[in-house]
Amino acid sequence: MLLWNCCNEIIPVAQKLPSIVESISPICVRCYTSENHLHLFRDCWESSIIWNYIFERTKVATVINLHLFFNASWRDWITYNLNQNRAWKVMFITSIWHVWIARNKTVFELKVSKPFSIYNALFIDHASISYILQVKETPVIRAPKPTWYPPTYDYLKLNVDGSWKDLNEAGGGGVFRGVSGNWYMGFSSKYDASLPLAAELYAIREGLTMAVDYDIQNLELETDATILIKLLHNLDDTYHHELSPVINDVACLMSRFRSIEFTYIPRSTNKVAHCLAQYSFAMEVGHNMFLNPPPFARVAYEGDLEGLKAIPDLNKTMEQGTQEVGESSAVATSTDASAIVSTQILFGTIPTTVTTSVAKLKK
Ligand SMILES: [Zn+2]
Repeated sequence: MLLWNCCNEIIPVAQKLPSIVESISPICVRCYTSENHLHLFRDCWESSIIWNYIFERTKVATVINLHLFFNASWRDWITYNLNQNRAWKVMFITSIWHVWIARNKTVFELKVSKPFSIYNALFIDHASISYILQVKETPVIRAPKPTWYPPTYDYLKLNVDGSWKDLNEAGGGGVFRGVSGNWYMGFSSKYDASLPLAAELYAIREGLTMAVDYDIQNLELETDATILIKLLHNLDDTYHHELSPVINDVACLMSRFRSIEFTYIPRSTNKVAHCLAQYSFAMEVGHNMFLNPPPFARVAYEGDLEGLKAIPDLNKTMEQGTQEVGESSAVATSTDASAIVSTQILFGTIPTTVTTSVAKLKK
C-alpha cells in the first residue's frame, strides 16, 4: 500500500497538506525545510543518514549507482530502485517502510529515533524477509538434505548456539569459518543465564566481541534463535526487558562491522555450534577457545565439509575466496604449540574475568 502510494506520489507529505487544511505547516518536522516525497524518503538528514548506513554496510547495495540514487527526481528514483535485482528491491522497500514509520513517530508521537536504531530495525527486518523469500524459493536445494553453507567471498561466518539446563548450567559456543568451510576459531563458554534465550544472546555477544577483537570486518552470523529478530527489531520496546542490556550490547556490536549479515538456520544445520555449546556443560573453566576443530566437534565439522561437496559451483568460489580471505582478514594465527590467547568478555551484566586456554596448535 505504501509502495503504491509512493509510486503514485500521493503520500500525505507536509507540503501537500496546506492545500487540504490551511493551518497545517508544509515544513518537515525533522529539519524545518519544505517536505515533499523526495525530502521525506531520501533527502532529509535522517533519511540520508539511513541510506548512507545501507550503502556503507550492506552487500545488496553494491548494485546501486550512488550518483543516480542521490540525484534522481522522485519518479526516476522510484523507477530506478524498483528495476534493480530482487535483493535490492527488498532492501529498498523495507527501508522506505522504516523511514516512513520513523517519520510518523516524530510527527504524531514526537518521538525521535536515532538513525542507527532505525537502520538496525530495518536491517533485521530485511534479513528476516530475505530469509523467508529464500526458503520459499529454494525448497528443492535446501529441503532434502539440510546443509551448512559457507559465507560468501570476503566474509567469515560465525555460527553460534546457546545451551541451557538451568541457572547454574548454561553455556554457549560458536565457530568462525571461511569460504571453503575452513576453521578459523571456535569457543565454548559457561554463562550465568536465567533463560535459554539469555544463553543464546550471550553466545552471540561473545562471538561478536571476538570478531571485533580480531578485527574481522565482514561477518555473516547464523543462529537458530528466531526470537532474536523480534527483540533486536524492537529495541525501544525491550527497554524494560530483563535482557535489554545484552540486547543493546549486541546491537552496538553489530555497528562495529563494515558489513554484517544476520541469517537464520534450522537447528539441525547448526551442528558444530551446537557441539561447542553442549561442551560448556562438561568444562572446568569458564571459557575455552579452539584454534583447531576440537575432537568433540570434529564429526559435525567434517560432516559440514562433506556437505559442501554436494553444493554445485562452490569449488571455484572456494578456491578464490580462500586466498583472498586468508590475506585480508585478521583472524586467529598460529604461534606455538602451547600458545595462550586471552580475551576479556562481559557475561550478562556481570563483568567476568575470563581465563582462556587454547587447543594445541598444529604447525
Ligand atoms: Zn526534513
